[in-house]
Amino acid sequence: MSDCIFCKIITKELPAHKIYEDDEVMAFLDIHPVSRGHALVIPKKHFTDLVNTPPEVVANLMAIVQKITPSIIEAVAVAAFNIGINNGSEAGQVINHTHIHIIPRAKDDGLNMWPEQPSVASDIETLAKKIKEKIV
Ligand code: 5GP
Ligand code: ZN
Repeated sequence: MSDCIFCKIITKELPAHKIYEDDEVMAFLDIHPVSRGHALVIPKKHFTDLVNTPPEVVANLMAIVQKITPSIIEAVAVAAFNIGINNGSEAGQVINHTHIHIIPRAKDDGLNMWPEQPSVASDIETLAKKIKEKIV
């Protein structure tokens, strides 16, 4: 897609610190890392977001996440990581080309990925039913 930053990284119109590439996938370091070694894994084909990405492409992306993450965390000398996918602008998705964040984590690094919220679970039973009915 012509105005997509990540497509331009794939075609080398834009630079990136690439850490992995094969015929279908590329991974590179995030330009604004939330932790040292923060990397992005993207399909070479343009899809706008997770739900619009074919399941076999998602499966392959995840396989590459599994393959490369041990090397990333070893390089930055930590033992843990989060993976994240922002789907939709309200969730923080800024680049509309499917990507998986790999975020290396160190003990007491100050990142709070999942801040606790006051309970919103009062209707949990009806909500579970409603969701179940919607899944086809
Ligand atoms: P999103 O918020 O869409 O899930 O994540 C997009 C990510 O891409 C952000 O973490 C942002 O720092 C990163 N990013 C945006 N533009 C560039 C770029 O030109 N190069 C690299 N390496 N990362 C980028
Ligand atoms: Zn793209």
